[in-house]
Amino acid sequence: MSSSHADLHFVLFPLMAQGHLIPMVDMARILAQRGAMVTIITTPVNANRFRSVIDRAIKSKLKIQVLELQLRLAEVGLPEGCENFDLIPSPAQAVNMFSAMVMLEEPAEKMLQGLCPPPSCIISDGAFPWTMDIAKRLNVPRLVFYGPGCFAFLCIHIVTSTNILDEIDSNSQYFVMPGLPDRIEVTKPQASTWGKGDTKETTDNFERMQEAEKSSYGIVVNSFEELEPKYVEEFAKFTGKKVWCIGPVSQCNESLQDIAERGNKAAINEQDCLKWMDLREPESVVYVCLGSLSYASTKQAIELALGLELANIPFIWFIRNTSEELEKWILEEGYKERIKDRGLMVHGWAPQMLILSHQAIGGFITHCGWNSTLEGISAGIPMVTWPHFAEQFLNERFVIDVLKIGVKIGVEVPIMYFEQDKEEKFLTREEIKAAIEALMDIEEEGQGRRNRARELGEMAKGAMEEGGSSHHNMTMMIQAITEEVAKQTKVIKDVV
Ligand code: UDP
Repeated sequence: MSSSHADLHFVLFPLMAQGHLIPMVDMARILAQRGAMVTIITTPVNANRFRSVIDRAIKSKLKIQVLELQLRLAEVGLPEGCENFDLIPSPAQAVNMFSAMVMLEEPAEKMLQGLCPPPSCIISDGAFPWTMDIAKRLNVPRLVFYGPGCFAFLCIHIVTSTNILDEIDSNSQYFVMPGLPDRIEVTKPQASTWGKGDTKETTDNFERMQEAEKSSYGIVVNSFEELEPKYVEEFAKFTGKKVWCIGPVSQCNESLQDIAERGNKAAINEQDCLKWMDLREPESVVYVCLGSLSYASTKQAIELALGLELANIPFIWFIRNTSEELEKWILEEGYKERIKDRGLMVHGWAPQMLILSHQAIGGFITHCGWNSTLEGISAGIPMVTWPHFAEQFLNERFVIDVLKIGVKIGVEVPIMYFEQDKEEKFLTREEIKAAIEALMDIEEEGQGRRNRARELGEMAKGAMEEGGSSHHNMTMMIQAITEEVAKQTKVIKDVV
């Protein structure tokens, strides 16, 4: 890296949700590995979740710091410590979190004004449109990061910036998404849960996000070009922005500790987890995890438990949300005893990367959050797709129709993460069993999926290596920011 690159200072603003925070922390370390200085701005509770990872990065001489801002939670009626979307006590309060986030603009700007060296570039989550205003006032470029890949984000842009959805009356009717290189059919609710505003505040914030994107210098995506070449191109054309695919960023985690502690402290000791997997045949185990926000309601979790049992295949299942009723059922049915020879059921945070990268894992039941999807792809593993909300149905279509490495579990209707308990339609144990069996099938169809997944896994690794597309894109992005900073400095000198 040239000395001018080494002078760069990136300031990262991750959204307070695991699916956004985790890839941004990875991104911070990738930038620092290239010699740049990086500041991550977040709140104390979130900073705590990745403190050990950052401390290790600092020890290895990376120039990273984490600065903390306080959300004014009491003012918006949220309890102390409720600093992440996975901590919000009741569904209706998600909007309060957005209100608290907006109030960060002023203290964030003050913090940035005091930074030494001064920031050269802001990389902000799309949910913080006000970082664009700060970037303008400080005269630095702003890059935006949303979370999803180019396929999903192109679909989202198409539906939010045209009126195609107005022409569709029925919520159950499938329509062909216009303007895409492949034939993709979705329903109106599946295409429109991202940025859906239930309140005036959320709608306004979404509009502000779109405006801020227009003024941004470019878009950073956690994906790689070989995965979705046509969509990277179309997405850049549609937005008229520079798009840098720099992922899968999860690949920057190389040490066992970084892999095992990614995102949060795991609910299982890493050695116990490894020991359990070491005892299984290669590609024999199904891993089940529905992400950091989605969960199965008690009734659905029981069907899932019975489906896993019926499929008679080894499994490792992390349950994020449990209930007294579910615990009672597990106990009364002696479920853990029944499955103990081949099933591991854990309550809490999964060391997902550690699990996915183990040779025993042969399939992944996922809620299709983009990070999980990409982590499954990077591990070269086929998936059962079980989308819930946001852009997850679009990710499902990508996995099934474009990549052809998935088996659809069969959900059609989006359900918000806080509405699972209200759900009236359930997947039965037989449906779950059938999807698992199809996933683990060793006949032609299953083998085809597995081979394609393996090839993609290899491509993902190649993309992040020196000379790979994402490695190159990171170089180009740093280069572009260096040039932009030089331009600004010249303008200032000329004025003086
Ligand atoms: N994750 C994890 N352990 C868990 C749940 C989630 O490590 O028990 C990680 C997962 O690896 C991914 C992120 O949390 O990096 C979740 O992001 P994703 O986009 O998949 O879904 P979201 O949680 O945002 O719906």
